[in-house]
Amino acid sequence: MSHYQYINSALIHGGISNDERTGAVNVPIYQTSTYQQDGLGKMRGYEYSRTGNPTREALEALIAELEEGVAGFAFASGMAAITAVLSLLHSGDRVLISSNVYGGTFRLLAQVFDHFSISYTIADTTDAAKYEADITDDVKAVIIESPANPLMTVTDIREIADISHKHDLLVIVDNTFMTPYLQKPLTLGADIVVHSATKYLGGHSDVVAGLAVVNSEELAKKIAFIQNSTGGVLPPFDSFLLIRGIKTLGVRMDRHVDNALKAAEFLQNHKAVKHVYYPGLATDPGYATNQKQAKNGGVMISFELQENYDIEKFFESLKLVMLAESLGGVESLVCHPSTMTHASIPADIRAKVGITDGLIRLSTGIEDIRDILADLDQAINASEVK
Ligand SMILES: *Cc1c(COP(=O)(O)O)cnc(C)c1O
Repeated sequence: MSHYQYINSALIHGGISNDERTGAVNVPIYQTSTYQQDGLGKMRGYEYSRTGNPTREALEALIAELEEGVAGFAFASGMAAITAVLSLLHSGDRVLISSNVYGGTFRLLAQVFDHFSISYTIADTTDAAKYEADITDDVKAVIIESPANPLMTVTDIREIADISHKHDLLVIVDNTFMTPYLQKPLTLGADIVVHSATKYLGGHSDVVAGLAVVNSEELAKKIAFIQNSTGGVLPPFDSFLLIRGIKTLGVRMDRHVDNALKAAEFLQNHKAVKHVYYPGLATDPGYATNQKQAKNGGVMISFELQENYDIEKFFESLKLVMLAESLGGVESLVCHPSTMTHASIPADIRAKVGITDGLIRLSTGIEDIRDILADLDQAINASEVK
């Protein structure tokens, strides 16, 4: 049916990729809140833009195709997407979460969903036996990140999905770090994929957005109902920006991954660096599992400097690489997980899962790698305590 076979073509032509009425090669920004009806009950497919909007629908069809799911849904942020998905649960239910999960997901469960008596357990999804032991009767879902933020631990998605399905759990994978270009969790047994599309899918640090893709008509109906009922939808202009970003995902990711691998090797060989966390390195404990389920190790790297380096000085000395939250844009960014992205996780839990105060997270951009490495090198050297 389709006139292409490969994802690099789907990124450009997937979903609804042009305008039937005018032939415009881009989907127009339908900046409208409502739609004229031809008579009572006679709508032309749309009634109100919270319920449906053609620009948003084009994006939703695109992400569904890329993740090989049944239906896609676009939200105002990654957290809005995760909130909608967790709204499938009922009071008394419990969710298992990977031991290093995005700080905002942890906060949502610990401080918002707890009002509704939905609880969570931090589980070790990298160890099947330990994981299964945490599945008590009240557990109804699991949220997996692989590689997980910020220690890049790898979970065998198929193995955890199989165990979870034995216990009738809903398997949710946050695929933000990999994107469907590198990993497709629904093909590995997940039921729902969520994204912070703010990151690689948008790719230019200019839009905050979230996406969810489901693997069944039944889940599609439920999420569509929740999306319309709770209302955290992505506006038409932001939907357009995401479609535009996704068209270049393949070329961006190829360069991002190339640069990340070089940055990881550079850091690993640097005398000031104590440890590098990156599943793209053959020496990483997650390497083999990641190779099985993803195209490569992705882009995100974390590392720790030796004791005689001052990380505050390191962050202040960077000139090209910027200190900022977020990741996945064309520009290189670093962050300090323990005080930034993961500050909402209590210190004792951070210590338990290994998010130390010395941990630095790097989102390698697509600048010339020689400039990135030179900047990292001068900032590391400037931070040595003599
Ligand atoms: C950023 C991020 C989120 C949250 O998404 P927002 O778009 O910031 O709401 C969720 N999961 C992961 C892995 C992220 O990196």
